[in-house]
Amino acid sequence: MPQSEFELIGKYFSRLGAERGDVRVGVGDDGAVLMPPPARELVVVTDSLVEDVHFPKGSPAASVGHRAFAVNLSDLAAMGAEPAWALLALTLPQADETWLDGFARAAGDLCRKHGVALVGGDTTRGPLSMTVTLMGLAPVGAALERGGGQPGDAIFVTGSPGDSAAGLALEQNRLHVSDPMSARILRDRFLFPTPRCEVGIALRGLASACIDVSDGLGGDLEKLCAASGCGAEIDAAALPVSEALAGAVGRELAREYALTGGEDFELLFTVPQAKLTAMNDAVALGLGPLTRIGTLVPGKGVRVFTRAGVMQFSGAGFDHFAR
Ligand code: ADP
Ligand code: MG
Repeated sequence: MPQSEFELIGKYFSRLGAERGDVRVGVGDDGAVLMPPPARELVVVTDSLVEDVHFPKGSPAASVGHRAFAVNLSDLAAMGAEPAWALLALTLPQADETWLDGFARAAGDLCRKHGVALVGGDTTRGPLSMTVTLMGLAPVGAALERGGGQPGDAIFVTGSPGDSAAGLALEQNRLHVSDPMSARILRDRFLFPTPRCEVGIALRGLASACIDVSDGLGGDLEKLCAASGCGAEIDAAALPVSEALAGAVGRELAREYALTGGEDFELLFTVPQAKLTAMNDAVALGLGPLTRIGTLVPGKGVRVFTRAGVMQFSGAGFDHFAR
C-alpha cells in the first residue's frame, strides 16, 4: 500500500501512456508544459465516468481504465484530431492497489496505442469517478465538425453499432444470450470499446460532418442533421449489425439496437458525392470498417426506411419500435 497520495501518483500515474518529446514538464510539477507543433490547432475534449451512472458498480478495473480514455479518444476521433496529451482527475473511495493496478495498466495500454502521454491530473478521495481531459492536434482548419453536412451527402457509420448496448444489457442481466462466444464478443464491445482514431484522422478533407455515436446512432444522427441544417434518410436494411448481435437477438431486433443503443463509440459521418471516389479509394487501402447507411436530404429530422414502411425517428426513438 503506498504511504501517501504522492506515492500512489508516482507509482501508477507518473509515467502512464506514451513517452512524447513534446512534453517539457509532465506529472510532478504544479502544471504540465507542452510544446504544440506550429501550424496545428489544439482540440480539447473532456468526459467524466461515474460509477453506477456510466458503468455498473463492480465493473472490472481494466474496463473502467480503458473506457475513461476510450470515450475521450472517440471525441477526438470525431473531430479528426490526433491524440497527444491527457489529464486525469480521479476520485477513489480507497487506495485499492489491485484495482489501481488494473485501471492504470488498461489506461496505459490504450494511451500508448494512441500515442497519448498522461501529463497531469488530480487524485482525491470520494465515490468512484474520473474525468479525463484529452488534447489532440489537427492541421489549422482541418478539424471535423458536426455542422458541415449538405443534402445529397452520403451517410456512413464505422463498425457494428448496437453491440455495446447489448453488452451492457448482458452485464446487467437484462439480456440472455445462449451462445457463450457471442455473449463474450458483445460484453467486450461494452467493456472495451474501440475508439476510431485512425478513421477520424483519415476523414480530414473527405467528411463534410462527423460525430461519434455515444447516445445511439439515430439520436446522434439527429444532432448531426440539426447542426448541418438538413434531414436524413436511413435504410434500416443497410445498418451494419454484427453476426454476434444478429445471432443473439435476431436481425430485426439487432437493427433496433443499432439505431437506438448507446456507447458504441463508432463514427457517424457524411461524405459529399464529389468525394465518394476518394473515399472508396481510402476504403480500398484499408480505411474502415465502415458502411453506407443513407443520405442527407433537404428538410429536417431522421427518417428510417424499413420493410414495414417509413418511420420518423425521434429522441424517444424506442417508441417507434415498441412492440
Ligand atoms: P498540487 O497540490 O500542486 O496540485 P497534486 O498533489 O494535486 O499537486 O499533484 C501532484 C502532481 O501529480 C501534479 O503534477 C499533478 O498533475 C499530478 N497528478 C495528481 N493526480 C494525478 C493523476 N490521477 N493522474 C496524473 N497525474 C496526477
Ligand atoms: Mg492538484
